[in-house]
Amino acid sequence: MRWSFSLFTFRRISVRVHATFFLLLLWIGFSEAAAGAPPLQVLQSLGFILALFACVVLHEFGHALTAAHYGIATRDITLLPIGGVARLERMPEEPKRELAVAVAGPAVNLLIAAVLYGILFLTTGPELPSAPAIMRGEFPVRLLTVNVALVVFNMLPAFPMDGGRILRALLALRISYAQATSTAATIGQGLALALGFLGFFGNPFLILIAVFVWIGAGQEANMAQMRAFFSGTVVREVTVTEFHTVNSGDTLGNVTRLLLSSSQKDFPVIENGELVGMLSREALAKALPEHGERGSVQTAMHREVHTADAGETLINAFTRMQESGLRTMAVTQRGELYGLLTTENLGEYIAIRSAMSSRTPRIVWETPQLPQS
Ligand SMILES: [Zn+2]
Repeated sequence: MRWSFSLFTFRRISVRVHATFFLLLLWIGFSEAAAGAPPLQVLQSLGFILALFACVVLHEFGHALTAAHYGIATRDITLLPIGGVARLERMPEEPKRELAVAVAGPAVNLLIAAVLYGILFLTTGPELPSAPAIMRGEFPVRLLTVNVALVVFNMLPAFPMDGGRILRALLALRISYAQATSTAATIGQGLALALGFLGFFGNPFLILIAVFVWIGAGQEANMAQMRAFFSGTVVREVTVTEFHTVNSGDTLGNVTRLLLSSSQKDFPVIENGELVGMLSREALAKALPEHGERGSVQTAMHREVHTADAGETLINAFTRMQESGLRTMAVTQRGELYGLLTTENLGEYIAIRSAMSSRTPRIVWETPQLPQS
């Protein structure tokens, strides 16, 4: 994720923090200080936020380490002001495993809450303070409360919350994955409507959560439809094999002519017979005013090349494409450049497959934009 910094790495999973997270800390610090809180209290509030996010990191590690148990790697865990995101390479296909991975996160918070309760029980007795006392209460009491809140919030049976995945996995034990997702998404969107309705009469924060849940449910349903649709297809079947490559030493003028004389938008860049980068239409348009027609491809190309193997499953490659917001991916076969996987071609593939089958999938096709260099 852009604008995020690595904090540390544990079990080969890098824990990152997004720049906006520091904004949250600044905002809390400033608003407390502006309200006339003494410095010690400001520090305490910041310490509490850090402890809360440590619990969020542990929650994400609950998911990541359970996934690792099933041989699924996690790319990274990123902390955002709204919470944590663990980017698992994929979700397990088998419902029981998805269930285990989804449950593991909230289970960690439940465990933390239990340990805190144990400590409080031993030090102050079994009585927990009342709600107003919690707000100004001791550090462990507040931490216990937010961990319980994290469990409740995450167990809401709606995507993108863990509860949504748990519901889907439970349904998928009986019905197909795509059907289970569609049912879970509908339940989630129903819940979002109810939350939004409540928000109008009570806490406006609920409206925000409702929007978040509504979008998450839609995306998840879309992804599952796509997955059902692409299942059994390998990348080779939808690879564009008639395409142009350019040399790193070519001029931008040459690429412009190639761009205008074909329908290709992204050009693989070759140097000494090897794929070294990709030149997109946008990068070309950006470099032309600066370097002119005589500028070289080298000055404009993206050096980071995303590739897919011709033999890998389409859904795998497509997931990576979506995550990186790519329009074109280079396809290799036995290490050699074989062709291009483009969203445009995938759209055509979907159109043809839908025309051939009587059941038309409900797919909203969005063309991802190439990241600007
Ligand atoms: Zn979770």
